[in-house]
Amino acid sequence: MTMRILIVEDEPEIAGYLRRGFAFEGFTVEIAADGNAALSIARERPPDLVILDVMLPGIDGLEVAQRLRSVSAIPIIMLTARDSVPDRVAGLEAGADDYLIKPFAFEELLARVRVQLRRQTSETQPSVLRYGPLMMDTAAHETSINDRRVELTAKEYDLLELFMRHPQQVMTRDVIYDRVWGYDFGGESNIIEVYVRYLRQKLESDEESRLIHTVRGVGYILRTDE
Ligand code: CA
Repeated sequence: MTMRILIVEDEPEIAGYLRRGFAFEGFTVEIAADGNAALSIARERPPDLVILDVMLPGIDGLEVAQRLRSVSAIPIIMLTARDSVPDRVAGLEAGADDYLIKPFAFEELLARVRVQLRRQTSETQPSVLRYGPLMMDTAAHETSINDRRVELTAKEYDLLELFMRHPQQVMTRDVIYDRVWGYDFGGESNIIEVYVRYLRQKLESDEESRLIHTVRGVGYILRTDE
């Protein structure tokens, strides 16, 4: 069953970023650019989860959360501006289940969405990802290869999880950049190469064969050698 996500965000750049990410993950996505549009979509085609920006034209995100909460138990994740503690507290009081501070990387939001959807659906989604000799326990945040435990930093973990959820599929540099580093990341251009190198070092430290392969001029792919 396809999960439906309603994104309430008036900034087209961020709305587009979220639409790309969730569509890539197989979700059905609807965008509302203001609170009234959000409420009418939620009434007509109830989504499985709402991502709600606090700062909206017209009725703000807090009021939208309250109104949604008064008629349904749908999970709500709020997006708040940086350094606005009152926003966060108010968001949770208005009935939001979780919040994320802008700017954020898509993988962080996706992880929170998965937590909320797991909580909501009685059927438990598998929390352990396996591919070849690799295992990631996304609940415990543990990674191992051939039962050898591998310690990863947060970004290394996000990058490997992206590969693990899309094995044998070429991840373009744009997708990786978008997904793991975020829409407003202004870092070095070789950051992906650097992190792939870190991952390879950790995953191949016991002479294991290569799993993350370079696809020249395009990106990377996770696959075992046939
Ligand atoms: Ca906004």
